[in-house]
Amino acid sequence: MTFSELKKRELSPESLQGLLINWFKKNRRDLPWRRTYDPYHVWISEIMLQQTQMARGVCYFNRWVVRFPDVAVVASAGQQEILKYWEGLGYYSRARNLHRAAKVIVADFDGEVPSDYDRLIQLPGIGPYTAAAIASVAGNHDIAVIDANVIRVYARLFDIDGPVKEKKARDQIIKKADELLPKGRARLYNQALMELGGLVCTPRLPKCNSCILSGFCLAFKRGTVGERPVTVKAKRITTVHRVAGIILHRGRFLLLQRRESDLWGGLWEFPGGKLDEGEGSETVAKKILNCTGLKVDVVDPITTVTHHYTRYRSTLHCFHCTLKGDDVEPTLNGAEDYRWVSRDELERFGLPAGPRKLLEYIQKHRPALLEAIIEADIPAEQGSDLSL
Ligand code: SF4
Repeated sequence: MTFSELKKRELSPESLQGLLINWFKKNRRDLPWRRTYDPYHVWISEIMLQQTQMARGVCYFNRWVVRFPDVAVVASAGQQEILKYWEGLGYYSRARNLHRAAKVIVADFDGEVPSDYDRLIQLPGIGPYTAAAIASVAGNHDIAVIDANVIRVYARLFDIDGPVKEKKARDQIIKKADELLPKGRARLYNQALMELGGLVCTPRLPKCNSCILSGFCLAFKRGTVGERPVTVKAKRITTVHRVAGIILHRGRFLLLQRRESDLWGGLWEFPGGKLDEGEGSETVAKKILNCTGLKVDVVDPITTVTHHYTRYRSTLHCFHCTLKGDDVEPTLNGAEDYRWVSRDELERFGLPAGPRKLLEYIQKHRPALLEAIIEADIPAEQGSDLSL
C-alpha cells in the first residue's frame, strides 16, 4: 500500500500517525525512563531491554539507577560491580560495553550522554538501532526506529510477503518507516509503534478487533495476519554438556574468571570443562586438572542444572570435590584469574546463569555444603582480594 493508495481509501498517512500517537498517549505503560526522557535513563533502558522482557528490564533498571544515578558513577565503578548488577540479564558484553561507553562519555562528552545519532553511534555497544532509539526518544530527532515490534507491525500493515530477515523485505520496511515518520514527533510516533507491537499487534493472537490501525491494515483486510511477518525456520538447538567442581579447601572454594574475549567474559564460574563426544561426567577431575593444574578428589555428585542461551542448551553436571595436597595456586589454563572465595564474599562475584542456578540449588538442597565454607586461613592474596 503506497501513500496514494492510502489516500484513495481516505486513510491518509497523517490520520494513521494521529491515530497511533493519540492511542499511545492514552495507553502507554508508565515506564521509569518515560518520566523525564533523560538521555542517560533512555540509554540504560535501551541496552537493558535488548533480549530482555519488559517487566524484568524495569526491575533491573530501577535497581541500577539507585546504585548508578548518573553516567559518572558508572564510569568510576569497577567492572566486577557492573557485571554483578547485570547478573541474570545475560549477554554480558552489553554491560562491559556500557561501562566502556560511560568512560568515553565522561572523558569526551563532559559526562553528558549525547542524544544525537552521530555521537551515539561512536560509543561502544551502540549500533544503528540503539543510536536511533536514543536519538529519537531522548532527543526527539527525526529518525525512524526499527525493532522487532516495528518490523512486525509494518510487515502486517503493508502485508509484506518476503522473509523480514532478508534484504528485500527489510528495505521495504525501512522505506515505509522513513516515509511515515511525522517530522518533529519522532519521540511519540516511534514509541507508539513499538508499544502497539508490544501490546496489540503481538506475535501470537494479535488483537486486531480492537486495533486502531485495523482500517489501514492490509494483512487484516486480506486475512494474512497469521502469516506475517514471514520468518525463516529457527536454527536447531544444540546441547552442550559440561562438568564443574565445587572444590572445597580450608573453608573456601575456587572460582575462575572467564577471559574478556569469551562468552560471559569477566564473569566467574566453577572449574571444569566441556565434555567431548563419548566423555562422561566421571572425567570431572581430569577436566579440573586440565584447566587449573590442581588435583582433586571427587566426593559426590551435587546435581545437574540446565540453562538456555541463543541456540544452545547447556547442561552442567556438578560435583563436590576436595583438593589433594596443599598447593592452592592454579595454573589458569584458559581463565583470566582465580579466587578462593569464602561464603561471605560469594555474593560479590557475578556468575553466569548455570553456576548461579547451581548455587541456588545448593542453598536450597545442600546447605551443609555452604556451611562448610567459612572464613578460613588461605592467605588473602590467594583468597579474598576483590580489588579487581
Ligand atoms: Fe496488527 Fe491486527 Fe492491528 Fe493489523 S489490525 S496492525 S495485524 S493488530
